[in-house]
Amino acid sequence: MRIILLGAPGAGKGTIAKMLVEKYGIVQISTGDILRQAVKEGTETGKKASEYMNAGKLVPDEIIMGIIEERIEKPDCAKGFIFDGFPRTIPQAEALEKLLAAKDMTIDAIVNLEVPEDVVLKRLTSRRTCSNPDCQAIYNIYTMPPEKEGICDKCGSKLVQRDDETEEAIKVRLATYYEKTQPLIDYYKSNKTYFAVSSLIAQETFDEIVKRLGK
Ligand code: AMP
Repeated sequence: MRIILLGAPGAGKGTIAKMLVEKYGIVQISTGDILRQAVKEGTETGKKASEYMNAGKLVPDEIIMGIIEERIEKPDCAKGFIFDGFPRTIPQAEALEKLLAAKDMTIDAIVNLEVPEDVVLKRLTSRRTCSNPDCQAIYNIYTMPPEKEGICDKCGSKLVQRDDETEEAIKVRLATYYEKTQPLIDYYKSNKTYFAVSSLIAQETFDEIVKRLGK
C-alpha cells in the first residue's frame, strides 16, 4: 500500500499517518521529520535546510527529491509507505511520478485532509514538543496537555514551541502552502485514486480513509 497524504500544516497528516502505519504495517515518510533529524545531526542536508525551515519556507526541490529517492530504497519500504508532507510542489509531484515509474511502483491513494483555516491556526499555535531530541513527544495545550505544565510526561524534559511554530513562521508556512502546495490538489484531482476527507476528529477521519481504501 502506497499513500500520499495532502493537507495544510496542522491538518493532522502526522497523526493520521501514524494510525495508517499501525493498520497497514507500512512506514511513514515525513520529509519534515527527516529534515529535522538532519538539522539535529548537523549533516550537509541539515545545514542547507535549516534556514528555510526556520523561516517557514520550503526547502528546495532537489534536496527533497534526494531524500525521497534514498528513503524509498530502504528495505522497510517493501510493504509500502505513506508520504506525509511530500510532495509539496508541482515539480516535486512530477519528479515523484518519474521516480516511481522508473521503479515500477504505483500510488494506491492520494488523500487530502480538509480543515478550515481557523482550526489549523489554533492547532499549530497550541502544539508543544518535547525538547529532548530522543523523545520529541507532541502535546497540545488544549486537547492533549501534559500532566505538569511545560514538562514532558514521558521523559520529564522541557516542552517547547518548535521554531517554525511561532505565530510569525506559521503565517509564512500557511502562505507558502496556499501558493505552492494547494495547486497540487488540482493537479491530483483528476487522478482516480484521489479523494478528500474532513479532518476534524482523528478517529473519524481514519475510519473514513480505511473505508474508502476498502482494504
Ligand atoms: P512539516 O513538519 O512537514 O511541516 O515540515 C517542516 C518544514 O520542513 C517545512 O516548513 C519546510 O520548510 C520543510 N519541508 C518538509 N517537507 C518539505 C517538502 N516536501 N518540500 C519542501 N520543504 C519541506
